[in-house]
Amino acid sequence: MKDEILHHIRYSLGKDAEHSSVYDWRIALSLALRDRMVDHWYRSTRETYASNAKRVYYLSLEFLMGRLVEDMAANLGLDREARHAIEALGQDYEEIVHDEPDAALGNGGLGRLAACFMDSLATLGIPAYGYGIRYEHGLFEQKFSDGKQVETAETWLTQRHAWEFERPEVKYRIQFGGHVEHHEGKARWISSETVLATAYDTPVIGWKGTWGNTLRLWSAKAPGAFDLESFNRGDYLAAGRSEALARTISRVLYPDDTTDAGKQLRLKQEYFFTAASLMDLMRRYLSDHDDLRALPDHVAIQLNDTHPAIAGPELVRQLVDVHGLEMPEAIEIVRNCLGYTNHTLLPEALEKWHVGLMAYVLPRHLEIIRAIDHDHRERHPGSPRIIEHDHVQMGELAFIMAHKVNGVSALHSELVKETVFEDLHKIHPTRIINQTNGITPRRWLYTCNQPLSDLITREIGDGWVADLEQLKALNEKSGDKAFLAEFQAAKRANKVQLAQWIRQTCGTEVNPDAMFDVQIKRIHEYKRQLMNILETVALWNEIRDNPGGDWTPRVKIFGGKAAPGYHVAKQIIHLINDVATRINNDPVTGDLLKVVYPPNYNVTMAENLIPAADLSEQISTAGKEASGTGNMKFALNGALTIGTLDGANVEIREHVGAENFFLFGLTAQEVQERRLQHGFARAAIEASPRLSRVLGQIVDGVFCPDEVTRYHELVGNLYDHDYFLVTCDFDSYFDAQRRVDVAYRSKTGWAAMALKNTANMGWFSSDRTIQGYARDIWHAGPVNTGGMEKIA
Ligand SMILES: *Cc1c(COP(=O)(O)O)cnc(C)c1O
Repeated sequence: MKDEILHHIRYSLGKDAEHSSVYDWRIALSLALRDRMVDHWYRSTRETYASNAKRVYYLSLEFLMGRLVEDMAANLGLDREARHAIEALGQDYEEIVHDEPDAALGNGGLGRLAACFMDSLATLGIPAYGYGIRYEHGLFEQKFSDGKQVETAETWLTQRHAWEFERPEVKYRIQFGGHVEHHEGKARWISSETVLATAYDTPVIGWKGTWGNTLRLWSAKAPGAFDLESFNRGDYLAAGRSEALARTISRVLYPDDTTDAGKQLRLKQEYFFTAASLMDLMRRYLSDHDDLRALPDHVAIQLNDTHPAIAGPELVRQLVDVHGLEMPEAIEIVRNCLGYTNHTLLPEALEKWHVGLMAYVLPRHLEIIRAIDHDHRERHPGSPRIIEHDHVQMGELAFIMAHKVNGVSALHSELVKETVFEDLHKIHPTRIINQTNGITPRRWLYTCNQPLSDLITREIGDGWVADLEQLKALNEKSGDKAFLAEFQAAKRANKVQLAQWIRQTCGTEVNPDAMFDVQIKRIHEYKRQLMNILETVALWNEIRDNPGGDWTPRVKIFGGKAAPGYHVAKQIIHLINDVATRINNDPVTGDLLKVVYPPNYNVTMAENLIPAADLSEQISTAGKEASGTGNMKFALNGALTIGTLDGANVEIREHVGAENFFLFGLTAQEVQERRLQHGFARAAIEASPRLSRVLGQIVDGVFCPDEVTRYHELVGNLYDHDYFLVTCDFDSYFDAQRRVDVAYRSKTGWAAMALKNTANMGWFSSDRTIQGYARDIWHAGPVNTGGMEKIA
């Protein structure tokens, strides 16, 4: 390893070791690790071709990968060796690891799920490609200025991205606009704009290096040659214009996971990467097959939400317009290839495109969508229309074009049947199925939590990393005082580290013996960070009323970004920061209560915070969080959950045991009923002296003396609307928190409950999820290999 790193310092970076920076060392280490991946990767490709195995194509507008060094090293079984080599070279391994920018090509849970799936597909040895966009700028960076969120552009690609291979020879022409001509039953799309999609490949190697798949991200380029004539005339801007226009398509990730912002460009992004991916997989298929009717036997395409839903009409277009199949047959072939995962029931997040826009950007696709609609309604009279009120409904399109539609938790999948797709479900009663989300144990325990990971491995061996259900063996240890003490010591080591990091990033001193109570996720009204901060104020009041009481010291930790245009979410951030300033400077409450909000929550921060958490906040309005995966990361790392019966919380509670989970709040059913009661919010506030007092303080400007009216609108909305029922669940939440306080006072009691969480979270491995997709949707499986020995 050492020699390989030095080789890259010299021959890839053109430096000598003496004058190399942390950046140089990191790139050299990454290249050395990448070298070790390549043979596994080639072998996997060869075996896939040789076996003629079915390939899985995972289409996702987002891949929230995070840093790669530690994970790549761990999966290759080289984590210790890499560290030793770097240390032998006189360098600081931690510093080098921390130098890597997050690959933040996603907003949150949906993009992180895609990243976990890539890891599991490789670990399970299923031949698969992840397809997405190589955004120049990932999710914005968040800073706070006087407590308010400010966004700046993310710039991961200003540095060399050492993991990828550029594939200049892989390029496709992607068309937009123009019109369609029809001659003798054949359609011809005369487009008005073309961009090139070029490929960048990152190898994804599974645990122990047994298999390697590819993450192929598309970048947009201008198709034509550089305009030398304009340049020579001195018109430098004109010379670069077409290049700049084309590149816009892969320039930025949309920082909003709930609305179809940026209309035309967003639609172009979606079509751009979907079309390129389908052209690529068709080229691969036709290189050794000639019967298009057998496509579904060899190709499974999964749509991660509706963002790639244009895949249905696009693949039909290729089969009909390019390969000459008949429309109804093409539709059937495509349907047998496609699966669609629904991620949300929030009405504002269900994609809809105005037919005018669709006709302008993708005229041929609009015709095909009408044909698909016609075909479906002929077979199923009375079926809902794909085009409704002049909008193409991408959810309906995806449903009709997929042979399976899945929700992401048991509760969510039932709600999908009862709400968004109620009518389509009646027509196709076996199409909707459930595949509860999961997380990869490699990143979310093995690499991010070394103290706990080492303890578990010492106790039960390392088989759990690829077979997480083996953690069940730890159940036997829940009465073993000595083991519980070690389990606690691992948590405490993580908390000490985090306390130090909090001092550096927030300037706040926190006590590692206080309970670390963590809510990290995108800021959204339905996730109810507002309820958490209101409860924080209520607790502050109670401590101040009785400072000598038997209080359980707490550190409330928040993390998360608000979409730049989401006004209410930004107000909530501001309020949390204002409350933190007031409470952290209160000598009466002192160490009993602290509030910290480190800026720029991302995968790396999650890896830092989760191993140190005692309490996991999963407090969404029941029926709104489709699954959640943050909830799984915490429970796996031995945090107890305070949560509602929402998303995968329901299943987590079943697995870890109701006695090891702090439940509160209305059920999804009760939420629906309560909303119908006139004036429910005002009534709930008036019935709760605690909540009334907190809201009164906020309105009086206790936390914003410089601008007393700052939160009047926010509080006014709680009285008059409160669509997410913060007011109705507040007292129940407060009471659950006091049960948490009591439980935390018994150190061994708490540790035993926490251990029960870790021990029973094995089912939430994304390996289990991927096995479910492979079995129920893709009908695909691993190509059998001899694993690591084969390459050695
Ligand atoms: C896991 C994860 C999420 C999803 O968190 P939820 O609590 O399920 O919303 C979002 N962002 C990052 C960086 C994550 O790692």
